[in-house]
Order: sequence, then C-alpha cells, then structure tokens
Amino acid sequence: MSQTPPAANSPLANAHAQLAAAVDHLGYDAGLHAHLQTPRREAHVAVPLRTDSGDLKLFRGYRVQHNISRGPAKGGLRYSPDVDIDEVRALAMWMTWKCAVVDIPYGGAKGGVDIDPGEHSQRELERVTRRYTSELMPLLGPNTDIMAPDMGTDEQTMAWVMDTYSVAVGHTTPAVVTGKPIAVGGSLGRAEATSAGVVQATEAALRERGEKIVGKTIAIQGFGKVGAHAADIFAAKGARVVAVSDVHGGVRAEGGLDVARLLLHVAATGTVVGFDGGDPCSNTEILALDVDVLVPAAKENVLDEVTAATVRAPLVVEGANGPTTTAGDAILTRNGITVVPDILANAGGVVVSYFEWVQATQYFWWTAAEVAQRLEQRMVTAFGAVAELAQRDGLTLREAANVIAVKRVAEAHQLRGLYP
Ligand code: NAD
Repeated sequence: MSQTPPAANSPLANAHAQLAAAVDHLGYDAGLHAHLQTPRREAHVAVPLRTDSGDLKLFRGYRVQHNISRGPAKGGLRYSPDVDIDEVRALAMWMTWKCAVVDIPYGGAKGGVDIDPGEHSQRELERVTRRYTSELMPLLGPNTDIMAPDMGTDEQTMAWVMDTYSVAVGHTTPAVVTGKPIAVGGSLGRAEATSAGVVQATEAALRERGEKIVGKTIAIQGFGKVGAHAADIFAAKGARVVAVSDVHGGVRAEGGLDVARLLLHVAATGTVVGFDGGDPCSNTEILALDVDVLVPAAKENVLDEVTAATVRAPLVVEGANGPTTTAGDAILTRNGITVVPDILANAGGVVVSYFEWVQATQYFWWTAAEVAQRLEQRMVTAFGAVAELAQRDGLTLREAANVIAVKRVAEAHQLRGLYP
C-alpha cells in the first residue's frame, strides 16, 4: 500500500523520521519498516450538521487505527479546524509508540473532525459528536477501538460518544471511551492524569541530574486540560510557574504566578490574557524564557528550526504531542538541552485511561490514591528504562523511547506472524 509522502516538516514527516531512526538502530528490514509505518485501518467520514439556525454545514471526520498488534486501538478525538488525515495519521502512530513505551496492552489510534468547537453551541457539538460516532460504529468498541478526549474535546464529548455507542448496541458500555465523567463510569484521577505524568517525568529527569522540583522555574505553553493541571501540580510541588500562555497570548511573573488565582481568571474569562498577577508575554517569547523547565503543552511543531534555537531552558518536557520538529529536535540536542519526549512525558493520560478501561470493564472502581500510586509507578518504571537505554547506547531520550516502543510492537508482529 503506497501513500503520498507527507508534506515536509509536517507532524507525519516528523513521525516517519523518528520511526526511521528507531528502525535503523534496531536493524530492521524495509518490509518490517513499511509494516510498522503503515496504518492498519483508516476511516474518512462526512459529518453533516444542521446548525441551531437551520443551515446545513459539512465537516470532515477521520479515524486512523495505526496499529493493533498489542491490543485494541486507543487514542483521542480532536476537534480543530486544522485537522487533516496526515495529522491524524501522525497522532495515531505516536499513540502506538506511547502505549508500547509505558507497556500497556493497546495499539494506537486517533480521530479528528475539522470543526472549531469555539464556533459552535453545545447542542451543535453534541449532534456532530453523535453523527461522527454513528458513522464509525463498525470500528468502535471496548475491545476494538477506545476513544478519549484530546484538543477541543472533553469529558462531555466522551459521554456523548459512550451514549451513542451504548444506544446502538442496546446496553450501557462505559469501557468504549475513557476520559468520561465520573458519574458515568470515569476514573478518579483521569482528568489530571496527563499533567500528573508530565510532572512525574519532569521530576524523574531532574533526579537524573541530582536536582529536585522545589524552587524550579517553569514555563508552560498551552493552558488547556494538560497545561492548566500541570501548572497547578507544579505549584503544589513547590516549583515556580513563571509564565503560561494559550492561543490568545501569555502572562509572566518572575516571582511566580499565583496559579490558583490564575485558574479563577481563566474560568471567568476563558483565557490567561488580562490576568492582573503578571505582565503580558507572547507565545514566541514564552519558548525562549530563561527558566529551568519548558513545557510545550499546546500543539505540534512549535519548536522548529527557528524557535528551538531560542530555547534557554536546559530541560524541555513535551506535554503536547509532536511539539518539536525533526530540525528543532536536532538543534535542542546540539545545544545540550534534554528533551523528555511526548510519548513518555504525556503518557500519564493513556495510562490512567487504561486504568479507567480496566475498572469500567470490571465495574469495579479504585480509590484516587490507588490510581495515583499506580500511575507514578508506571511513569517511573518507563522513564527508568528509557534513561537506561539512552545512557547505554548513547541515544537521546526520544531515540531511546522510540527504540523501546518500536521493538515491543515489532516483537508482537513477529510472534503473531502473518495471516494468512
Ligand atoms: P486543550 O484543547 O484542552 O488545550 C489546548 C491549549 O493550547 C489551550 O489553552 C489553547 O488555547 C492552547 N493553544 C492552542 N493553539 C495554540 C497556539 N497556537 N499557541 C499557544 N497555545 C495554543 O487540549 P489538551 O487536551 O490540553 O491538549 C494539549 C496537547 O496535549 C495536545 O498536543 C494533545 O494532543 C496533547 N495531549 C493531551 C492529552 C490529554 O489527556 N488531554 C494527553 C496526551 C497528550
């Protein structure tokens, strides 16, 4: 199966380059490389919407199951006007490696609809979600493909997906999605899991250098589900969150932002801009601040060959998926900056999604403390394995994480063999 090569510097081109480096390190042949790179299944669906004012609008929807050799396809659903098939393919591939590097029994998938959720009412978003879900019914299921929130979607979106699926099959199926509200079978600790994992990955990387989180200065780009919870957890651990930003702009305060008050400001206004506890700061400036830790937690490709050269933080922890381009990555490495890669740094979300799925499958829910303790154990174990391989083979953390993940997936391919 041949695919048009991805656009240069696109997330998919970056994902392909990362895979090629891992395949090269592992010495796999071209056939296995192609097998590992090519998505297993893809669905393209039309998503028509009758708006509240009676107009008919049409959106494009996608679901890519990149790999299902280690278990059911698992991955988020993104609502963003920029979504296209190649972005979804890249995100699905990263999900495969992410699940493998933290050793959970899932393959990788991703979904997307090219809709701007900010432009639509809740009623319209509900109709879009239900139509998209119903178009994908043959692919979805608790043992086949399990969605979760991503950019532009949230636990309410997951409740609609779960309800649409459940009505169609005739019984309530909480395990068909993760990241759903607690009241319909969600897990304690899921909402903040990605961010908790980002902070744990940061602490693990600091420990490698004999340093602690207390007093460290942090800049976070993106103040959504990942960035906002991360700011809160960093502050609770005694770090100083000195700058944050969202799509509208940023705010900085050298002495540290009052995160609790900032969260109230965002709840009231929908943006960090205009917060009176700091000075304005642009999205480009935030990447170049003289801080101990930079956390890109917004979107892909923000650290490219231009912006990566401006980074002064010695440690970058990727809360977002694919925030660093291949060229940007080379510059960070050349400048001696440690990057904790996305597939490891933000894996806390899918780890607790896995816990949520286990709980929902058994109809038996754990305490918040159990979830938190098991999450930390997974993150610390995965980080330790990646750091050890990086040290042993002289690799970056990204290269080492990819090698571990790709090897686990390739092993599943080889053990299962080819059918027929
Ligand atoms: P979200 O929609 O809740 O928040 C996104 C944030 O990024 C918002 O504050 C938005 O204003 C900001 N943003 C968007 N475009 C921006 C731009 N051009 N410049 C600066 N800020 C911008 O999304 P999220 O769930 O927090 O996801 C953020 C990233 O983390 C994505 O890359 C996502 O794939 C990744 N991720 C999310 C999860 C999760 O559990 N939600 C898990 C793993 C990875």
